[in-house]
Amino acid sequence: MKNIKDFDLADLQEELVAVGEKKFRAEQIFKWLYVDKVMSFDEMTNLSLDLRNKLKENYTICNYKILKKQESSDGTKKYLFDVLDGNAIETVLMQYHHGKTICVSSQIGCKMGCKFCASTGIKFERNLTPGEIVEQILAVEQDIGDKISNVVFMGIGEPLDNYDNVIKAIRILNNQKGLNIGARHISVSTSGLVPRIYDLANENIQCTLSISLHATTDEKRSSMMPVNNRYNITELMKACKDYIKITNKRISFEYALAKDNNDNLNDAKQLVNLLKGMLCHVNLIPINKIENGQYSKSTNENIIKFRDYLNDNGIVATIRRELGSDIDAACGQLRRKNLKN
Ligand code: SF4
Repeated sequence: MKNIKDFDLADLQEELVAVGEKKFRAEQIFKWLYVDKVMSFDEMTNLSLDLRNKLKENYTICNYKILKKQESSDGTKKYLFDVLDGNAIETVLMQYHHGKTICVSSQIGCKMGCKFCASTGIKFERNLTPGEIVEQILAVEQDIGDKISNVVFMGIGEPLDNYDNVIKAIRILNNQKGLNIGARHISVSTSGLVPRIYDLANENIQCTLSISLHATTDEKRSSMMPVNNRYNITELMKACKDYIKITNKRISFEYALAKDNNDNLNDAKQLVNLLKGMLCHVNLIPINKIENGQYSKSTNENIIKFRDYLNDNGIVATIRRELGSDIDAACGQLRRKNLKN
């Protein structure tokens, strides 16, 4: 059976018209799912009994069960959800002054193999469907009894490696008749899949693009992120510049500082050279030490020096506030601890 949350509004309209129903029924169902947030077709009381039965026979409503939840003293909550096929995914809720941000997973496992990431030890199983991505927001909202204002695709998986499903999920999140999360409040992070960056540029979606850069030379970046062997820094930077030209949107570059690896002033200088003149922002991330990982966190002194060097040289840079450091905060850690792959 199909999960009804896998359809964006346009698809749902088509689906219903194809079985002889009126198009406006799709909007009614959409409202039940994403505004009233009901968990069963029986609760959709403005639909005829006949249609409700038809829906029950042909579709499911995917509702996640929480397998495990960890709560940090800073309010960060990490969830492990049962996606109902024997797999589990992680979702993190972070509380910022500007609202509640949720970090969603886009795949079960990840193929990219970044060396600093806890997801690297998790075997790639499959892509998440649009509904399985959207359900992460609904399930967390249900758990906390509050609305999520920002969504970042930075959990387990490479979102642009699951391109079509991620785009569809964004359309569901962004639809004013659905969850109505503004595109500017949705951020997609990629390890650098160049062809998909061009695709995204042409989607006409106003979401923010984040690039996990983390190093300024091919040698260093390839040692941290194997994807760099496929699309090197020159190709990646060209795609970023073209993305900015097409969308006129600022790119956010993520740079995880690892002690004695990429955190000295020479790295900062190279980063300035790479990004000079670009409409961008740099997010410096104190790296999360993972079990058996080869990288450790840079010192606070180095992190501040690095940020100041960038700011003094015309690159806007901020240090990401560390959240959830007393729980398994790095993506993949909770899942890795609870499941054996
Ligand atoms: S950092 Fe992201 S892209 Fe890289 S292995 Fe982890 S989940 Fe995959």
